Amino acid sequence: MARDPLPDLHRIFGFPAFRGVQEQVVTRVLAGERTLAVMPTGAGKSLCYQLPSAMLEGTCIVVSPLIALMHDQLRAATAVGLRAATLTSVDENKAETRGRYLDGELDLLYVAPERASTADFRDLLTRGRPALFAIDEAHCVSEWGHDFRPDYRLLRPLLDTFADVPRLALTATADAHTRADILEQLGIPHEGMIVAGFDRPNIRYTIRPKDNSTRQIADVVRDTPGPGIVYVQTRAATEKMAAQLTQITGRPVRAYHAGLDPAVRARNQADFVASEDMVMCATVAFGMGIDKPDVRFVAHAGLPKSIEAYYQETGRAGRDGDPAVAHLFWGAEDFARARQRIGEVEEHRQPGERQRLAALGALVETAGCRRAILLRHFGEHPPETCGNCDNCLSPPAAIDATETARKYLSA
Ligand code: ADP
Ligand code: MG
Repeated sequence: MARDPLPDLHRIFGFPAFRGVQEQVVTRVLAGERTLAVMPTGAGKSLCYQLPSAMLEGTCIVVSPLIALMHDQLRAATAVGLRAATLTSVDENKAETRGRYLDGELDLLYVAPERASTADFRDLLTRGRPALFAIDEAHCVSEWGHDFRPDYRLLRPLLDTFADVPRLALTATADAHTRADILEQLGIPHEGMIVAGFDRPNIRYTIRPKDNSTRQIADVVRDTPGPGIVYVQTRAATEKMAAQLTQITGRPVRAYHAGLDPAVRARNQADFVASEDMVMCATVAFGMGIDKPDVRFVAHAGLPKSIEAYYQETGRAGRDGDPAVAHLFWGAEDFARARQRIGEVEEHRQPGERQRLAALGALVETAGCRRAILLRHFGEHPPETCGNCDNCLSPPAAIDATETARKYLSA
């Protein structure tokens, strides 16, 4: 019989209670059962393996796709007193970290999938005591997911080498197809899947065709106080948009993309996290692993890659629960470009691409509730109207009628 995790939740993290499905997930993990936790961004996925890592004998091996993400996690885990380390190409204390693992002095060991799947790493694990495998951002294992990483596929032999060690896969974004694929790829039984509610009721979704997207985004930036993120499609566009928004709105605006000098990138990110009114113009490279609760708006200048990506990117708004807005401006040319891209990659077997585009089309073109479409996409059964998206707040049919009426009246 596994121990009650509640006292450790209080003692280590200082949280009064579990949130949502955390307790269910932790209970399964402590019982040694293979689990897939599908929980929205901000729901507290990390705790689902951090807490067991402190309670179980041995080390929890955390597979995570990005070094930056791992180092954020490391900081957070160390801050609550967990014994944690990362094993990455940029770490200079790798020998020391291996030693700490072998001596049983680590609760958490973070590694990237390409390292985790090597023979060296497997040998290392064999000589110590792995207590749990936590596979973060587990949708990366699926070609159906929006962020397929082939290295995730190589994890399975490692997991199966330690078949008795429980495995916990975690993701924020997975449609039914991707979920089924994660279960299969990672060898997790169907009853091991736990799905939390996806609704983010404080986010107001607004989706409009673009005419002049710079002006439209500038209006959002001017009208919405507080920190915000503007997602644009290319690296060059982040800097151009930042310059234009600075000029038009007078607000502090920065740019962020993977091609920036690392020091500049780090500074822009740190300044944004600390700021109460900064706007970040970014590619989708920005945001993963950033825990900034008070982002008041996210604006997309162009179509996101998928509904999952849209949900994840807009989900960075309003994590504090206060009202926040998500604006998306799209054009027919976004779809044309995406279709062209799909045509080009077809032979590389991207089975989800077409469906993903169709789902996005349904979201942007609907006259119905945006939230209902999003939540249905994630397998939920939401009410027909949410009262907090553009279409629910001013139904398009009603606008058309008024428009028509006005024309007649002014004629
Ligand atoms: P996710 O990975 O699901 O996006 P995180 O693990 O980064 O979310 O957690 C988001 C935030 O929620 C963190 O600041 C974390 O400390 C906090 N949190 C997690 N669990 C709880 C809880 N039970 N009570 C209060 N806060 C929590
Ligand atoms: Mg996380």
